[in-house]
Amino acid sequence: MSAELIDGKAFAAGLRARIAEQVPAFRAAAGRAPGLAVVLVGEDPASAVYVRSKGRMTREAGMESFEHKLPADTPQDDLVALVDRLNADPAVDGILVQLPLPRHIDEQAVLTRISPDKDVDGFHPVNAGRLVTGLEGFVPCTPLGCLMLLEDRLGDLSGLDAVVIGRSNIVGKPMAALLTAKSCTVTLVHSRTRNLPHYLAHADIVVAAVGRPHFVQGDWLKPGATVIDVGINRTDAGLVGDVDFDSAASVAGSITPVPGGVGPMTIAVLLRNTLVAAHRNAGVPLAA
Ligand code: NDP
Repeated sequence: MSAELIDGKAFAAGLRARIAEQVPAFRAAAGRAPGLAVVLVGEDPASAVYVRSKGRMTREAGMESFEHKLPADTPQDDLVALVDRLNADPAVDGILVQLPLPRHIDEQAVLTRISPDKDVDGFHPVNAGRLVTGLEGFVPCTPLGCLMLLEDRLGDLSGLDAVVIGRSNIVGKPMAALLTAKSCTVTLVHSRTRNLPHYLAHADIVVAAVGRPHFVQGDWLKPGATVIDVGINRTDAGLVGDVDFDSAASVAGSITPVPGGVGPMTIAVLLRNTLVAAHRNAGVPLAA
């Protein structure tokens, strides 16, 4: 292996510590803590783990965590009514509805019900529109975390060739929009792309959000490329990413491991988005 490891776990811990330092000033100015409401419907074990860690890290940062656990057969109307109550609750700055939702619930109907000003996941179409038009809004946590790791590693990204693999609304599309805003030349590839390795061969930056274990091969990469692996795939061999780590690490300049790369960034950015939401909602300026 010649690539340097990008330590997302350490970066995320530093980010959470900086957020925790900013909370007391907010409490003093607003007379309350920033508040994050997390809604979990059903018993999905992976979701339950995420929700527990979000609650713990929210409290560790000095913020208020409001956890709402609803049974799997909760009617959509009840979930929408809860979102309405949280939208109206002045103690709640951010609302996160944990995905996936049970099949009988229309995910878009719920996500679009969240007030865009409390949409700390950045999934509301209003925030997606703000991102592509360059307006201030909330950006989805995982791609924003990837961008932070890239800028920490590379500094100014202007003019670099970037390939994003995957076009989901949660990762791929917002990642491409963020890199475009940073003046990268962005290529977004997906399952219908012909000859995917052709595009990767020129990429200074590769962000893989495919959902397929070991998908990206080392010999597809430009030597020295910076590789961000968003994938979280549960296999018999444990958690693995979308990048074939061993072959990629012998070609790339730097690479995120799985676990310990992008994963820890997601919650840290969620806390940052909640802190920003709290300042905006309370009309308190956020120190840089
Ligand atoms: P989706 O399944 O929504 O999207 C996957 C994308 O990959 C699609 O755009 C799909 O193309 C593309 N794709 C699938 N197969 C191929 C292929 N053979 N060649 C090229 N492109 C392909 O996944 P998500 O974006 O939600 O997640 C991606 C990965 O990131 C998953 O492993 C997920 O677990 C992980 N993840 C990690 C997070 C974290 O916190 N670290 C947060 C969110 C996700 P098409 O559109 O044509 O179908």
